[in-house]
Amino acid sequence: MNLSRVDERFPIADAFLHAAREDGHALNEDYNAGRQDGFGYYQVAQHRGRRWSVVDGYLKPARRRGNLCIVTNAHVLRLNLDGRRCVGVTYRVGEREVTVQAKVEVVMAAGAVQTPQILELSGIGRPALLQSLGIPVLHPLAGVGENYIDHFATRMNWRVRNTVTLNEMARGWRLALAVAEYFTRRTGILTLGTGLVHGFVRTRPDLPTPDVQYFFVHASYANAAERILDRAPGMTIGVTQLRPESVGSIHARSADPHAGPVIRPNFLASEVDQQCMVRGMEIARRIVGRPALRKYIEHEMSPGSDVVSDADWVEFARANGQTIYHPIGTCRMGEDDDAVVDLRLRVRGLAGLRVVDASVMPKMVSGNTQAAVMMVAEKAADLILEDASRG
Ligand SMILES: Cc1cc2nc3c(=O)[nH]c(=O)nc-3n(C[C@H](O)[C@H](O)[C@H](O)COP(=O)(O)OP(=O)(O)OC[C@H]3O[C@@H](n4cnc5c(N)ncnc54)[C@H](O)[C@@H]3O)c2cc1C
Repeated sequence: MNLSRVDERFPIADAFLHAAREDGHALNEDYNAGRQDGFGYYQVAQHRGRRWSVVDGYLKPARRRGNLCIVTNAHVLRLNLDGRRCVGVTYRVGEREVTVQAKVEVVMAAGAVQTPQILELSGIGRPALLQSLGIPVLHPLAGVGENYIDHFATRMNWRVRNTVTLNEMARGWRLALAVAEYFTRRTGILTLGTGLVHGFVRTRPDLPTPDVQYFFVHASYANAAERILDRAPGMTIGVTQLRPESVGSIHARSADPHAGPVIRPNFLASEVDQQCMVRGMEIARRIVGRPALRKYIEHEMSPGSDVVSDADWVEFARANGQTIYHPIGTCRMGEDDDAVVDLRLRVRGLAGLRVVDASVMPKMVSGNTQAAVMMVAEKAADLILEDASRG
């Protein structure tokens, strides 16, 4: 995989870093180097300004192998069991249903949302739930779909002045210039991720590591759900709790493999999570109030200066917060009865079935999830090879 530092620099982002220092936080150029605390520019999965995905890093180099067949636009309907062994998969491509037999094993990697759903559609899961959906119970496993953990985030934003933000840069002639710059030099605003500057802080001094992550960007949404930017200049700080206690679930809604599952996040159920988010948002507001940002800040748009008490902050978070799409845990690894996979990622009690995706992670990691999922996959590749060589 290729990782690079964001090369673009913007005066208001630099001022945000100065404000963080004024508030007593360290600058940290490389949050992957050991110590996580502090503020700095984000790193991005890019190679010379172009996005570098797992397809570039892993799939493209392997796609011509004789023992690899890639079928696209295929929707897995179910796993097929023969007693206590998974023997293959049935999927649909267009109008056609295809069943493939596994010679050794099936590796599920449909992610923390769909892996539990596919297991349940295949009769693997909580007996009462499967029966209520009319799915025959082939392998009772109470933990499937439970232990859903995610990163919940709020967005605080400010109207700013004396600078040009992405709100104006991403439209009209400025956007045309940015497109030209990207295609000629692979630089400019089209190389930015959604977060420009990071911050990792401890909301309480007794914590061993940071519990809050910030995503600063000099842009603000007029409509966040539809990703429409404001027309006037703005900036946003996303605030997320790194290791939430609140736990939810993701389960099949019906026996129809094309119906999305029911996702119950249970965000902010725990008092600890509420307190962490409140302190994290208060710190963000305090940083923005520091002298280094004074010339840029016109006013706080959201939540707004009338939000001050803990109850106000929690209400704001409940009304405006959302996932930042880091679902994990719904096929948790472990050795207890509620674990779904064992320490070699094999579905407990079944032969021939492994899960290799974010769903196996028992606890949330202290940052974005994708690198951790790649590490799960790297480790799984070793385990699969080891087990295959043992026969
Ligand atoms: C909008 C967004 C932004 C994100 N930004 C970041 C970020 O900046 N940094 C970061 O670290 N992480 C980020 N993440 C999280 C990261 O993408 C995930 O943690 C990671 O991709 C999870 O990997 P996975 O293999 O578990 O699942 P996925 O990557 O979701 O892979 C599952 C695959 O299974 C396929 N699938 C599902 N059901 C079926 C079916 N029935 N039949 C056939 N195929 C099926 C899906 O199409 C998908 O290709 C982001 C996620 C989203 C959605």
